[in-house]
Amino acid sequence: MTGLSVSGITKTFRVELPREDALSALVRFFSGRSPTRTFNALEDISFSLAPGAALALCGPNGSGKTTLLKVLAGITKPCRGAVSFTGKKACLLGFSSILQDRLSVKENARLCAVFFELPGTTAENAEKIMSAGGLAHLRNARAGELSAGMKLRLPFMAALLSGAGLFFIDETLAVGDASFRAKCLAELSALKRRGAILVFATHDMELARGLADAALVLDSGRRIFLGPIGEMPEAAGAAVPGAAFRSGLNRYPLLYEKLKTAGFRLAEAPPASDEELLLVHSRSWLDRLKANDLTPQEEKSLALPYSRQILPLSWRMAGGAIAAARAAASSGNLGVFPPGGGHHAFPDRGEGFCPVNDIAIAARVLLKDGLVKRPAVIDLDAHQGNGTAFIFSGGEVRTFSAHKADGYPRSRVRSSMDADIPAGAADGVYLEAVKKGVKDFLELAKPDLVFALCSADAYEKDALGGLKVSMEGLGERDGFLFKTLAGLGIPVCLVLGGAYSPPEEAALINFNTIMAAAAAYPSFGKTVSV
Ligand SMILES: [Zn+2]
Repeated sequence: MTGLSVSGITKTFRVELPREDALSALVRFFSGRSPTRTFNALEDISFSLAPGAALALCGPNGSGKTTLLKVLAGITKPCRGAVSFTGKKACLLGFSSILQDRLSVKENARLCAVFFELPGTTAENAEKIMSAGGLAHLRNARAGELSAGMKLRLPFMAALLSGAGLFFIDETLAVGDASFRAKCLAELSALKRRGAILVFATHDMELARGLADAALVLDSGRRIFLGPIGEMPEAAGAAVPGAAFRSGLNRYPLLYEKLKTAGFRLAEAPPASDEELLLVHSRSWLDRLKANDLTPQEEKSLALPYSRQILPLSWRMAGGAIAAARAAASSGNLGVFPPGGGHHAFPDRGEGFCPVNDIAIAARVLLKDGLVKRPAVIDLDAHQGNGTAFIFSGGEVRTFSAHKADGYPRSRVRSSMDADIPAGAADGVYLEAVKKGVKDFLELAKPDLVFALCSADAYEKDALGGLKVSMEGLGERDGFLFKTLAGLGIPVCLVLGGAYSPPEEAALINFNTIMAAAAAYPSFGKTVSV
């Protein structure tokens, strides 16, 4: 038995740029080719597995799991790096394509016997495959009449009988029913005991923990984690920033339901104009957001692997914040825009899920329209508001940020006032720092409108916040903030920023925040921008 050794696998694709501007037309005219850019599907992936070991490949869709399996199986060539293994490989990737619905179960079993190069005669092997899969009594049925899970038993059993020493398995393992899955797991465990190596891609953490010894977590082709399965972060998804962001998005429908039930009206704000975004951002950044033409480095910094769907939302995000800020300024009480809070965005680049800085844009729109003179930002997200601090470093808008002392973001910019809260701080330490900071800041800034970023990510169950504040603690924070501001007669534009705890809890925290604000401003018209 030999081990599997994988060193420095890098796979790059060239993709066409999805744009129709003058430059692209010129490139096409002179070169005869469409302009392209490089897309790194896998970046420098190395690991080795001893005989009898199983590796789970985890990460969101599009993270590179299937590409890596294809490279390992020899279906795709890597641009750099090498795979070394001596012995027979069996590849269970997209294996439904081997099967022919118009043929009988027996004929499909014969196809599988040939495909997996089983030693012995094809007829005998077909019988073995059918009986191992519990399909012998259905030998004359057409494969098309079987459920997807039943059909998959054929290639799966053929692979097991092939005598291979290295198995590649994709997510299709999860297609089978519970009893077939249990049988697969038992068979795969037996293979491991006989010294076979397994590499399988999965979203199923239970399966990963049950079968694998080690895990490799990928995001955008990069290694996020490689190590013993027991040391894999609690939710592999949470180790992947893009996945945490997407899970955070799942709270909005729950939050909106709660708001509607509580009698709030949801009003869709129009997207902001280019002119409004240009009050903060550079033309070149906006052009590149529009064309979805970010460099790999920029995509990495933004941590949005699925930027294609997210980036066009930038204009809507800014529009929502502007609408809520106008509502606050004109009513003198409260405006609310739950998705707002892109506080890591700089004028010419995005960071940490924030392509544009909606708070800064809304503040400049209000200043330009003469609706406010001294707006200020109170940023209670668990991460420092570096982009907002940078944009307003000239002092035109005062900023206060209360956040975890170290960790993300590494590139910090001083706010007018910062409260660095030690990592892991619970209610007592957190609330003291926030309350003192808010009081001192309001005396310093004397604002005529406050943008309040009241995120839920200081919550103890948040995957990315790094603080340990309870739900009650967050309630006390919000109650204090809104009562203080209302007591001073300061209107508030409330945005809710990020949340990476389970969606039900994140939605509840966000809902409680809005309720606390509405309670402090009883004349609030209960219209929330979305
Ligand atoms: Zn945050």
